[in-house]
Amino acid sequence: MRAAFISNSDCGRHDTGWDHPEHVGRLRAITRALRDDPELFHTVDHLEGRHATLEELELAHDPAYIRSVRDIAEQGGGRLDADTVASSGSWDAATAGAGCVLLAVDLSVTGVHPRSFCAVRPPGHHAVRDRAMGFCLFGNVGIAAHYARAKHNLQRILIVDWDVHHGNGTQALVEGEPDIHFVSMHQWPWYPGTGAAEDRGPHGTVWNIPQPGGLPRTAYLSALEEGIDAATRGFVPDLIVVSAGFDSLAGDPLGGFTLEVEDFESLTRSLMARADSWCDGRLVSALEGGYAPERLAQASVRHLAALAG
Ligand SMILES: [Zn+2]
Repeated sequence: MRAAFISNSDCGRHDTGWDHPEHVGRLRAITRALRDDPELFHTVDHLEGRHATLEELELAHDPAYIRSVRDIAEQGGGRLDADTVASSGSWDAATAGAGCVLLAVDLSVTGVHPRSFCAVRPPGHHAVRDRAMGFCLFGNVGIAAHYARAKHNLQRILIVDWDVHHGNGTQALVEGEPDIHFVSMHQWPWYPGTGAAEDRGPHGTVWNIPQPGGLPRTAYLSALEEGIDAATRGFVPDLIVVSAGFDSLAGDPLGGFTLEVEDFESLTRSLMARADSWCDGRLVSALEGGYAPERLAQASVRHLAALAG
């Protein structure tokens, strides 16, 4: 079964300016790196994602907030929070970003593509129910988890977030649902300041793994594996969704973790083995952070190569 590489050209229309770390060059670097690996390029299926509908966004977001994002984009753009901007193309980009992940869920359930990597932007894991935050407009992964339950009747979802920042938005969108388990490993103390280990959510279904920067790589890898073990004790997921942030790479300008590109290959293989034993291999991954474009691209390619088997 071939893995899918899902993107949408509208993701490039979220124009933050080249001075902003979350710029369109990130996706272009991934595409370039994939073209530079012809064997991998031809091993995966390249799909253009769809746009999420209003109803789908409302699975996780406040309707008034959703409309405000659309209005701001229609008016030419503007500032959504201290470090989050929208341009005229941001509505199409943000709905495409979420829609790509929903397509990946559809394909994983039908078995056409059990495994996908969605190269999308804007990222999603900081966006909360009624507010943009930290470069994120809509919670792509949080929406996908609710969508998998509502549309496909999958009961139990595991979300793994290896971005260097706490997935505060994802936690906020899913912690009310006991059948969605959320594991986030992140630098601490660091933006956005949330994600303490004691913060387990109202149902005890959140596993936050705060870590200092600068540890040996293996410390992060084993801490994350232990977190996933804890989150799945007596809980067999029907789908794994990954918030694939590559700002946990050594040298990222916005993080202090020390992971190397090959670590994402081993992490991915570990999750694939779990998905094979739990849920017919269903594993959906969506890009979050990663702000050294060439490094981000290399890690994304290794992640995709692992998904491609
Ligand atoms: Zn991040």
